[in-house]
Amino acid sequence: MKTHVLVMAMALLAAMSGCATRPAATVEQAPPPQTFTPARWAIVIHGGAGVIPKDSPREEIASRQASLAFALSEGRNRLARGDSAVDTVEAVVRILEDDANFNAGVGAAFNEQGKHELDASIMDGATLNAGAVAGVRTVKNPVSLARLVMTQTPHVLLMGDGAEEFATAMNVARVPNEHFSTPRRREMLDEVLRERAKTKTKAKSSVDEPRMDRASAGAARSGRIAAATGTVGCVAMDTRGNLASATSTGGLTGKRYGRVGDTPIIGAGTYASNASCAVSCTGTGEQFIRHTVARDIAARMELKGETLEASARHLIFNVLKPDDGGIIAIDRDGNIVMLFNGEGMFRAASDSGGMSVVKIWE
Ligand code: ASP
Repeated sequence: MKTHVLVMAMALLAAMSGCATRPAATVEQAPPPQTFTPARWAIVIHGGAGVIPKDSPREEIASRQASLAFALSEGRNRLARGDSAVDTVEAVVRILEDDANFNAGVGAAFNEQGKHELDASIMDGATLNAGAVAGVRTVKNPVSLARLVMTQTPHVLLMGDGAEEFATAMNVARVPNEHFSTPRRREMLDEVLRERAKTKTKAKSSVDEPRMDRASAGAARSGRIAAATGTVGCVAMDTRGNLASATSTGGLTGKRYGRVGDTPIIGAGTYASNASCAVSCTGTGEQFIRHTVARDIAARMELKGETLEASARHLIFNVLKPDDGGIIAIDRDGNIVMLFNGEGMFRAASDSGGMSVVKIWE
């Protein structure tokens, strides 16, 4: 007790003598040296694999870069002020869904019937909770419906009419299917259908569907079709070290009615676990489903002790084929990876260390 009183008295004396000898302004100018490490965060986004030609009009390139930069800055601000990784990836993907430059929400690809069927998913690396929707037609922001599947149901994936009914129950914003249409996407569909008709005429065999689909996918994502862009995704690590991932897409141009790609398949197009990493994929969904790309990247880290970079490289360059697509990912230490096996991928990244990039090609 005596010691306690003595310590308090000494502290008081020290404080008083400090006040007496140092003017307040001097104290403000010389703060004590920083002994804590600033909270770390990291974010990476993609706007799809498959790029516009390098000689595209300057405004077109600038418009994509501006879209990516805007979404990135929103995510960066959120993480810097302490928002969770899950809140951040949902907010960023919503921005990209509302942006006609990308194949998600407004600007979504048309299926072969000239309609839009949207897929999205989200995963929380801290809990392994996940939610996804497939084939929704009137939900303005599918990623938010996916989040509601995660938080308001015991399920992971809702599809078609059931997902639409759930959207009604959750009172989320709805729009007519045409809300997602853009002239550019219509042109892409027309071109894919024309190419398909040509291939069909040439083909001797009548059971050629997988080949047709690959041709459509390739055509849709290659530079032969002006302004082909893709799926959107966001991966983040928040200041508490939690990882999350979200992905949203209109799928492949000219896809068969009812076709679902990798985007809403947890483990294929999206995955997040604080034990290893969070991943969002883009490309030919069938390939990402076959090779469970997102989960395999995490699994190689967890089971083989590989780094994120080594694991992702293996999947993108040894397992997938050239032009299949790409991934963005962040590991639990905040290391960011952006890899693709085609000509490019719309992408952007930033972290608390001051790094910030927006890129389209290599
Ligand atoms: N992975 C998406 C899908 O197959 C498409 C894309 O990323 O471009 O539906």
